[in-house]
Amino acid sequence: MSQPRSVVVVGGGLAAARAAEGLREEGFDGRVVIVGAEDERPYERPPLSKGYLLGTDERESVFAHPADWYVQHDVELVLRTRVTSVDLAARAVTVPGGELAYDALLLATGASPRHLPAAPPGRRVGYLRTIGDSERIKAELRPDRNVAIIGGGWVGLEVAAAARSAGCQVVVLEAADRPLQRVLGAEVADVFASLHTSHGVDLWTGVSVQGVKEGPDGVTVRLEDGTSVRADFLLVGVGARPNTELAEAAGLDVDNGVVVDAYLRTSHPDVLAAGDVARAHHPRLDRHIRVEHWDNAIGQGRAAARTILGTGAPYDRLPYFFTDQYDVGIEYVGDVGPDGYDDVVLRGDVPGRVFTAFWVRRGRVVAGMHMNDWDAIDGVRAVVDAGAVDLRALREGRAPLEELAATAVRPSP
Ligand SMILES: Cc1cc2nc3c(=O)[nH]c(=O)nc-3n(C[C@H](O)[C@H](O)[C@H](O)COP(=O)(O)OP(=O)(O)OC[C@H]3O[C@@H](n4cnc5c(N)ncnc54)[C@H](O)[C@@H]3O)c2cc1C
Repeated sequence: MSQPRSVVVVGGGLAAARAAEGLREEGFDGRVVIVGAEDERPYERPPLSKGYLLGTDERESVFAHPADWYVQHDVELVLRTRVTSVDLAARAVTVPGGELAYDALLLATGASPRHLPAAPPGRRVGYLRTIGDSERIKAELRPDRNVAIIGGGWVGLEVAAAARSAGCQVVVLEAADRPLQRVLGAEVADVFASLHTSHGVDLWTGVSVQGVKEGPDGVTVRLEDGTSVRADFLLVGVGARPNTELAEAAGLDVDNGVVVDAYLRTSHPDVLAAGDVARAHHPRLDRHIRVEHWDNAIGQGRAAARTILGTGAPYDRLPYFFTDQYDVGIEYVGDVGPDGYDDVVLRGDVPGRVFTAFWVRRGRVVAGMHMNDWDAIDGVRAVVDAGAVDLRALREGRAPLEELAATAVRPSP
């Protein structure tokens, strides 16, 4: 790609905001346009199921930039506008009422909640993705109300914690044997299960939802074993799907996300993708991964800006995410991958919920996390980065994590 004069970013989320910021920080003085379908300027979604939902974070604190940042940095922000098509040959995107030409195009269209056919959105049935969704759900979280949640993933559990804090009765309905089992495995998922039950959440696992009926006084969730759960409000949190429609229609490679290389370039040289929508080749993992995390939207947004300007490098940061529920926070680094793990090393006080955990596959640490051990994240990251650490010493729990990482066996060159 020769040095562009005009960059169009589709999608007004975090990846879009950080890409625009990156372009300006790298000295790009051409035209930058962000086209976003939502009413609001780019904002961060993590608070929508945590502080903003709890009422502890101010509305203004969720935005990626102050309102005047866009004017100050000469970034054109076109809100409430959906890009309906991309013409790769003409280098233009279509918006209602016209076209926008580009030299470089960044697709940062994010993801949308996966909808459960049995539970269409309604007055008493909600999904959570936008600031408006969070505000609607917050209005439902009142003392003594019954809240049912389908899905014991991150969003479902964070809303469960907020609902309990608001004084609601909460039932979580999860298909697997444990909440978060697919992401964390049984050992650490059990810690989250007990965290929620100890805070009074009624946790139903191994259940399958057959149907949802919304009536004037509430909503009834019918399960396949014949039982049913009545609630004043139902939240469905069963994952997200990448917003790939534009890319698909334009003929770009799409496979569970817009397929990009490590520089975030799609199958067309003028077009990149970043954030939740991108399935990028990860040079260290040597496979394509799609990462639905805050840190990835920031990092890839900035990395895409550098690729556009010809100063890019392969994006090789390991996936990182965090969650906060009740008085517990975790940070997680790494990627267990499709082959799973064969061992977990737990260090610290697991019942007291202050510990680190490491997932091991074929003798190498592939992922790690801490719970409420806030000084540990650098050490966790160092161990995951190193991979081939002394597992016996890791398990013994005495050697500092940084020391274990420093003495790891390096792969031969
Ligand atoms: C409730 C919630 C809590 C979360 N909590 C955490 C957390 O604790 N930790 C963590 O690491 N991650 C968390 N995440 C994930 C994190 O927020 C996402 O990874 C991040 O928002 C991805 O940013 P993005 O810019 O790629 O996509 P998005 O934030 O999805 O933004 C994409 C934007 O593009 C717009 N768009 C789509 N198509 C078009 C089009 N054709 N034209 C114009 N605009 C379009 C969309 O409307 C949207 O505004 C959470 C997500 C949610 C929903």
